Amino acid sequence: MLKISGRTKLVFNMVLKLIIAMALGCTLMMTLLFISYKPTYEVSLNGEVLGYISNKNILQDRIKEYLEKGDSDKVGYVIMNEEPKYEFTLLKKESTIDDDMVFAKIKDTCDVYYRVYGVNVDGKEEFVVDSITEAQRLVDEINEKQSSYTTQAKVEVSEKFAKQYDLLDDVEVAVNNIVNELEKTNNKKVVKQSTSYAAPTTVTVPEEILLAWKNSNEELNFKNPLEGVGLVTSRFGLRARDNHKGLDLAAKTGTPIHVAEDGIVTYVGWYYGYGNFVKVQHASGYETCYGHCSAFNCSVGDTVSQGDVIAYVGSTGNSTGPHVHFEIRIDGVQYNPEPFLSE
Ligand SMILES: [Zn+2]
Repeated sequence: MLKISGRTKLVFNMVLKLIIAMALGCTLMMTLLFISYKPTYEVSLNGEVLGYISNKNILQDRIKEYLEKGDSDKVGYVIMNEEPKYEFTLLKKESTIDDDMVFAKIKDTCDVYYRVYGVNVDGKEEFVVDSITEAQRLVDEINEKQSSYTTQAKVEVSEKFAKQYDLLDDVEVAVNNIVNELEKTNNKKVVKQSTSYAAPTTVTVPEEILLAWKNSNEELNFKNPLEGVGLVTSRFGLRARDNHKGLDLAAKTGTPIHVAEDGIVTYVGWYYGYGNFVKVQHASGYETCYGHCSAFNCSVGDTVSQGDVIAYVGSTGNSTGPHVHFEIRIDGVQYNPEPFLSE
């Protein structure tokens, strides 16, 4: 049996105490560490730290799902150029951990390709839309408008993927621009509506009848000529280029134009940039004018009552899309129609 001397026992006890002290110290340090630090992953991409996250697995699942589906059904595919790197680290408690922010930054570095549809006219891409239904509708619309042409352009839809694309602000205007271009290269003009007839502009209202209207003193209450279906696309005085002297109300070609007040029709026919133009004399010196019509439904000398259909919306004359250019004049001077309109 080994006899342990008093000296050995003393050394043994000291070592034991030291070990216990060290263990306590370590535990204390670890506790302190976890009180002021939290375990996290540092995420970096291309050597750049994106931020800190609390859950690596959840983030990786989110990235996987994003690469498969994108974040909308307009997305065709997503390409991740570089895999993020994760490093376990202890971070001071007050530091920011933001899984959503890191995910958003990773998304930003990906290339997103959207599924879009180009509308091609004779092989040239005219515009891009983001739904096949919309693309097909535009093709149908252009084809319908060019149906009376002797030579017709070939209008097709092509599917493609694009990182960036410009959506059309105004589909109607874009379609009309294409059709106007096609019309220029075609010998056959678009057939105007069958109700269209241009009265000879030499016809005038007899002086005494005109003056009777002009000088009668009535309280007037003008109504919107499109009865609210049109959209204001240009206001009075607001176009820097030509100091616009009327109110433009856009609506589909063929939309009825109603006379704004009772009166007598004084002009029906082509009038320079106004295209097909109607002018009506009202009481108290007022006149109203209606420009760019596709067709007429009145003739000079007709007495009209408020709301009567006098013409139809079109894009004749100096116009880029179907609308009625509406004016209110007093003794030949144009005034902003908006304050006069009752609605
Ligand atoms: Zn106008």
